[in-house]
Amino acid sequence: MSSATKIIAIDGPVGTGKSTVAKEVARRMGFAFLDTGAMYRAATWRALHLGLSLDDAPALAESTRAMKLEICENENGQQVLVDGHDVTDAIRTPEITKLIYKLDQEPAVRRHLVALQQSFGEMQPTVAEGRDIGTVVFPKAKCKIYLDASVDVRAERRALQMEEKGMTVDRDQLKADIADRDHKSMTRADSPLRQAEDAILVDTSHLTIEEVVERLLSLARERL
Ligand code: C5P
Repeated sequence: MSSATKIIAIDGPVGTGKSTVAKEVARRMGFAFLDTGAMYRAATWRALHLGLSLDDAPALAESTRAMKLEICENENGQQVLVDGHDVTDAIRTPEITKLIYKLDQEPAVRRHLVALQQSFGEMQPTVAEGRDIGTVVFPKAKCKIYLDASVDVRAERRALQMEEKGMTVDRDQLKADIADRDHKSMTRADSPLRQAEDAILVDTSHLTIEEVVERLLSLARERL
């Protein structure tokens, strides 16, 4: 990996502030931002849109390989297009979130998306966030961060975000969903979520977003 020195790899479970922090670190470093979760979301959206069975592994792999995916980051945020359809909001629905695990455990789906992620990182200095960035996508990255926080803190953060959008939140259900997604990510056979041996653990439970960003920027400057 020629640009190993220019990759900041950020992994961690849902609700640790990964996306917000990764985006801000990328902005301040002048690096590109790669949201790998959006790619798994887009692949899930496409499979459902085509009416495929999420238990049909070969069909899921074929659909993912055929997907024309465009992700643009601009001042208004992120825009995601699949085969020309704007799916920016559609890939964030609870239905998609619940079903991603059907695709994300398929080795052929992962292989294809990982190859796309690696070629993105080869082209420009990149802050990449996901579940397997430090372990599988960019194992040679010099700066690897694993963000974590207690389930209670992560559920509360997510609840506040949802309430800000006017949604009603069942906190117990939300906590159970997060614990379930953690379990599925950490126990799948292919590329389970885990901290890479050379990743630095940052517990965000008692830190503000700005404090996490500062910590990551100083780690990045030290390591790259
Ligand atoms: O980060 P985000 O919540 O958008 O990711 C959605 C889902 O995609 C995760 O819960 C996980 O199941 C899957 N994912 C993955 N590998 C990645 C990124 C996301 O399996 N690198």
